[in-house]
Amino acid sequence: PRFNSFGDSHYGEDESSRNARKVADHYSARSNQTLEEREASPIIHLKKLNNWIKSVLIQLYARAGDAVLDLACGKGGDLIKWDKARIGYYVGIDIAEGSIKDCRTRYNGDADLQQRRKKFSFPARLICADCYDARLDQYLDDDAPFDICSCQFALHYSWSNEARARQALANISALLRPGGTFIGTMPDANVIIKKLREAEGLEFGNSVYWVSFDEDYRDKKFPSSRPFGIKYKFHLEDAVDCPEWIVPFHVFKALAEEYDLELVMTKNFHEFVNEYLGKPEFTELMRRLGALGDGKQDHGTLSKDEWDVAYLYLAYVLRKRGQPPTE
Ligand code: SAM
Repeated sequence: PRFNSFGDSHYGEDESSRNARKVADHYSARSNQTLEEREASPIIHLKKLNNWIKSVLIQLYARAGDAVLDLACGKGGDLIKWDKARIGYYVGIDIAEGSIKDCRTRYNGDADLQQRRKKFSFPARLICADCYDARLDQYLDDDAPFDICSCQFALHYSWSNEARARQALANISALLRPGGTFIGTMPDANVIIKKLREAEGLEFGNSVYWVSFDEDYRDKKFPSSRPFGIKYKFHLEDAVDCPEWIVPFHVFKALAEEYDLELVMTKNFHEFVNEYLGKPEFTELMRRLGALGDGKQDHGTLSKDEWDVAYLYLAYVLRKRGQPPTE
């Protein structure tokens, strides 16, 4: 695996680069938690629910032997999920150096901690780079095309302006094979805007999160002529504290189509849970993860405030146009 580090000099002085740096610095600074710290988190059940949703998506769409591109892979929290799906190859990319380091440790095992764990069964490359930049393909010439591209809780960081949003989708489209699958999760813009309009001021939230828009959005109107760069601040206890951007879903869908990516499904997390929790294989997975208590084990359960946060997100699946190559 290679470790490509972008020095500050790679970032222009324009606003979107400064924003990308802010996001990267925020995630870089969040180092790996110990198991005890993780279990003590006020949003531990939400984290488990998020992991369950990502696992279901992976189990539904990944096939044994697949080449996987994990955009904004973070600390590699999904490596084990991909291993269970018996994929053949993995490339993980993230803009935050600290996260890629943690991801590398997770993949290789930590010699200092004498971590003993089964090695992952697939080879992997981990790269530190901006996924929404035109230079992404420089790193991936020999790896593409991929069967699956995954972008978990991260595509909205590309929506700071139209050029970056387009570049994100252009990169994904160019790196997927015809018939390849693009899966992901991101904030549900409809829910966020609805909650903003219901709020008295420009902020809303509960004991574990808050969302705050600035004065530019006093009238709470979002003209369809300006669907990029709609910034808000998001704070999620023990997880996120940085600028994010609204991704109006119809714009995402239309833009993706321009890049030959067709929408297969989208579901708000509440709907997702209602739909898949009843399926035996996924009920069992939820029981093992312990996000929703079943009364039999001492996992506790998601609080109402955590469940409200889940409502802020959606999952999506798109397919790259064209016929898959015949075997
Ligand atoms: N996908 C991981 C997961 O599900 O655990 C991490 C999700 S975390 C909420 C968002 C990630 O997006 C962070 O690791 C952050 O560094 C990454 N990110 C944000 N902007 C990025 C960009 N322009 N290029 C690559 N990664 C980016």
